[in-house]
Amino acid sequence: MARHYLGCICPGTTTVKRSRWVVRVRNGNHSAFNGYRFTPSRYSEVSCLGCGRRWRTDAGYVADLPDRPYTDPAFTRDLEEPDDRP
Ligand SMILES: [Zn+2]
Repeated sequence: MARHYLGCICPGTTTVKRSRWVVRVRNGNHSAFNGYRFTPSRYSEVSCLGCGRRWRTDAGYVADLPDRPYTDPAFTRDLEEPDDRP
C-alpha cells in the first residue's frame, strides 16, 4: 500500500502550497487508542486550507507553519464549505 508523502493536492509550487498549511496538532496526536487524549509524538498533524487534506509528518517545515488547532473558531470558517442547512 502506497504511503502518502504529502496530502496536499493543490496546484502550484511547494512554496505556494505551504502558504495554505496549518498545524492542527503539533508534536502529538489525539488517538482513539487513548480516549482521544493528547499524546506527545514527534509527528504533527498538518492540514491544508486550500484542499482540506490532512496528513501527519515529522518534516522540518512544520516548525515554520502557523498553529490552527481544531478548537480555533476560525477552523470551520476556513475549511467548511456552505452546506444545505437552513
Ligand atoms: Zn492543498
